[in-house]
Amino acid sequence: MSADQTTATTTATTTARPSGAEPSSSPRRLLEKLSPVSGARLGEFPVAGEDEVRAAVARARAAFPGWRDTPLAVRAEALGRVKQVLAEQGEHYARKISEDTGKPTFEATMTEIGAVPVLLDYILRRAPVLLRRRKVSTPIILPGKSGFIEYFPRGVIGIISPWNFPFQLAVVPVLSALIGGNTVVLKQSEITPIVAGVVEDLFRRIGLPAGVVEIVHGDGSTGAALTRADVDMLFFTGSVATGRKVMAAAAQRPIPVELELGGKDAMIVCADANLERAAEAAVWGGLVNCGQACVSVERIFVVDAIHDRFVEKVHEKVSQVTVGGPDEQADMGPLTSSAQLGIVERHVKSAVAAGAKVVFGGERLQRPGQFFAPTLLTGITPEMEIFREETFGPVLPVVRVRDEEEAVRLANASEFGLAGSVWTQDVAKGLRLASRLECGQVCINDVIQSVGHPALPFGGVRSSGIGRYHGDEGILAFMNTRGIMVDRGKLNSEPLWYPYAGKVAHGFELLRGITTRSVGSLVKGFLGLRKKMTRQK
Ligand code: NAD
Repeated sequence: MSADQTTATTTATTTARPSGAEPSSSPRRLLEKLSPVSGARLGEFPVAGEDEVRAAVARARAAFPGWRDTPLAVRAEALGRVKQVLAEQGEHYARKISEDTGKPTFEATMTEIGAVPVLLDYILRRAPVLLRRRKVSTPIILPGKSGFIEYFPRGVIGIISPWNFPFQLAVVPVLSALIGGNTVVLKQSEITPIVAGVVEDLFRRIGLPAGVVEIVHGDGSTGAALTRADVDMLFFTGSVATGRKVMAAAAQRPIPVELELGGKDAMIVCADANLERAAEAAVWGGLVNCGQACVSVERIFVVDAIHDRFVEKVHEKVSQVTVGGPDEQADMGPLTSSAQLGIVERHVKSAVAAGAKVVFGGERLQRPGQFFAPTLLTGITPEMEIFREETFGPVLPVVRVRDEEEAVRLANASEFGLAGSVWTQDVAKGLRLASRLECGQVCINDVIQSVGHPALPFGGVRSSGIGRYHGDEGILAFMNTRGIMVDRGKLNSEPLWYPYAGKVAHGFELLRGITTRSVGSLVKGFLGLRKKMTRQK
């Protein structure tokens, strides 16, 4: 476990069991959860061991055939009930998310809960179209055949989720996996155990058949147990370091793995940008969720011609951001993870030591809890740690560049490639620049909100991950593909089958037909082969 606001104790307990788990009298490790806002103790939460994880996977496996064979329309109807529960419980859930993470309740409402029905509606609308068996065109070289593609679920999906958007990043992958007929074992972050309970409550309320969604609670050891268990795919959202371990575990079986990892997203501000909007966006894009978003603005490239004016505007806006706990209705909360606070402090200190200038903020706030000031830094250069590594905190590092060319080159000079944004009033130029950014999503004149566009695939390149979810890709990610070829079965043999005697010349003729697209040669070759299809007596 990380040195975080959860601490471990070992107690004999039979309480606070995950749903469906057998009662146990063996000692169980408990994690203590502290408030990121006040440091107060919020509760103790159990850590599931290897046996409990295995049992949960076994229940999910037993439930799989029934859920797979449930008609898609019935599965969709069941998952659609999520919207009804969110309509009834959404406000309560949002407050719980705020309590656990420290994030403003407005953010919890919009970016965590509000995102789910939008993405779910897309899943429910597209799955029947996407998952239908479809006919594909068949080339002339395969006369008498037709081809079809169909999808079938992978089986039991192990889903491991992080703490930064602990509700959305658990619920959406689960729904995306369930629609196609998979069952799921979910392991959420130990840093946000209260939200883990909220997610469990949501799935209990929609009333799925037993075993279709199993939730195991715990820390990295529980996650590691899930990666070793009898699952058919792993879907992981979290850090690069853990993503490597998950992939290594998946390689042992081997099973497919999807990794949604970190980012170091670039914002490129061109000379013709709407500077007022770009400055507002930089502040929101860098500070939303206290900068703890995988798609936070982590590097701001500003062309020389407007650099000083832009920094001035950002300075003015960042100084107006209010900081406080959810009860204070502030714009920005504390860091959710105390370990993250240490990383943010280190990045800012080392940037300053290497010559960066603190225009605003730059340090922890002198109050209880894990608060760091909204921070604006200029003079950032590629050698600095803050340019290369994910900060995941409320820091806006500005890099002065000569022109857009230099901005694109430096934006791509990163281990990461998750998302980015381009700011210009010339949309055609914006699209040209967007196409040159080596990452999985780009906004033009907007920031982060593309993640909420349900038709857009989401995921990264390089160390930002493997695979896509959201959009059509997000439904198909959890499916196996099956190709089916149909022949009406009238002929007793095939030109390609035995015997081969006397077929070589006809084969050459056919090859000529295939390579030169000569219909004459194809027909001649086929007819010759047809004559040789049965053995000469
Ligand atoms: P983390 O890697 O520390 O933990 C993620 C999850 O993995 C937790 O549930 C944890 O308990 C579990 N885990 C820890 N060790 C494990 C192991 N050995 N085997 C299996 N599971 C294990 O990540 P985090 O700190 O919770 O999340 C922050 C990171 O996630 C950031 O880097 C952020 O950029 C990234 N992130 C990416 C996306 C995306 O969609 N690309 C979204 C959100 C967060």
